[in-house]
Amino acid sequence: MKKKLSLPVKILIALVAGIIVGLICYFFVGAEVGGAFTTNYLKPFGDIFLNLLKFLVVPVVLLSMIDGIVSMGDMKKVGSVGVKTLLYFLATSAIACVIGLIVANIFNNANLFPVLSQDGSTFEGGEFQGFMSTLVNIFPSNMWKAFSEANMLQVIVIAVFFGGSILAAGQKGQLAKDIVSSFYAVIEKLMGFIIGLSPIGVFTYMAWVVATQGPNIVGNLAIVILCAYIGYVVHSVVIYSLSAQFLAGMSPLAFFKGAFPAMTFAFSTSSSAATLPVSKECTDAMGADPDISSFVLPLGATVNMNGTAIYQCVATVFLASCAGVHLTLGQMVLVVVTATLSAIGTAGTPGAGLIMLTMVLTSLNIPVDYVGLILAVDRLFDMGRTCLNVTGDIACAVFVSRWENRKTAKR
Ligand code: ASP
Repeated sequence: MKKKLSLPVKILIALVAGIIVGLICYFFVGAEVGGAFTTNYLKPFGDIFLNLLKFLVVPVVLLSMIDGIVSMGDMKKVGSVGVKTLLYFLATSAIACVIGLIVANIFNNANLFPVLSQDGSTFEGGEFQGFMSTLVNIFPSNMWKAFSEANMLQVIVIAVFFGGSILAAGQKGQLAKDIVSSFYAVIEKLMGFIIGLSPIGVFTYMAWVVATQGPNIVGNLAIVILCAYIGYVVHSVVIYSLSAQFLAGMSPLAFFKGAFPAMTFAFSTSSSAATLPVSKECTDAMGADPDISSFVLPLGATVNMNGTAIYQCVATVFLASCAGVHLTLGQMVLVVVTATLSAIGTAGTPGAGLIMLTMVLTSLNIPVDYVGLILAVDRLFDMGRTCLNVTGDIACAVFVSRWENRKTAKR
């Protein structure tokens, strides 16, 4: 009997096949025709797959968080998991910023960054509304609007309120509890089915990215992309290995092996939110407590963006040098603070980090139009940063899970 290939192997094969097909399209068919072919005939299948994942995001986040909270059994445990999770997210994001700044400054001081001039094209950036109005906007005034707009922070708040209230209602909340866990079981089945299709999504997206972006576009920005990727690799190898070894009590190799399917998936889709179902499978297969991963992962896919933080720091130093601004130490501290906050505010969707980058630039008085210089290659930055974002969520879930389990065992 033939042995069936496991999903991670299929994803890996799809990734390599996508790169090969993309290269063939680019070099042998010609960038224009090959690019148009992948855009018109391959990418749509990737889009269908991504649409299916996106439609799952709101129900998965909502149900998995409510189910996670309810299964934890008491609000004290939810609070303890929540605090650890948020502290982990904040600490690793700040470390990511520092790593990003160090790597970028090494490149900048060695005069490795190209100096490009802004060509006058304009770029619409996102606007930071101020801390208080951001805070107000986290709380939904209309539940359905939060769902239909996929406003994930609001969905998380709704989940926390519902989960907490079901617990508080005690015996009377039993039916609501059963309904949530039954719906969640159904959504999990659906997720399993859609994830089974992921090699198609990975293959078509990779072929499209390679065929349309080709080596030319990387051109003189290759060095900046390399700089960001060095930051990504340093952060994941150092921070997640240490976290796996000392906080989660597992070997770094086992950790990366377990997280691999989600990492490849994030790399090719550039969306933490869409990768959520895959991250959940990986994390649970690594032995994390499903209740805890149900709580930590959706939160992480919304607020924990280590890769985005590194990218924003590297891009800021690069664009500052293009604008002729030399960043002082004080300004670097400002970059750490704003990049950490803007990474938290970044949605887990493709390209969101680029929009939020404008917030960091504005805080340094660098015109946001400079973002235009890296716009064309953003996808290449995005693939790596999303991969890191997702790995960070998984690292946090296994760590918090182990900590909570040890606490329970002690009792
Ligand atoms: N694409 C990233 C993510 O989904 C967000 C970003 O653009 O930085 O995690």
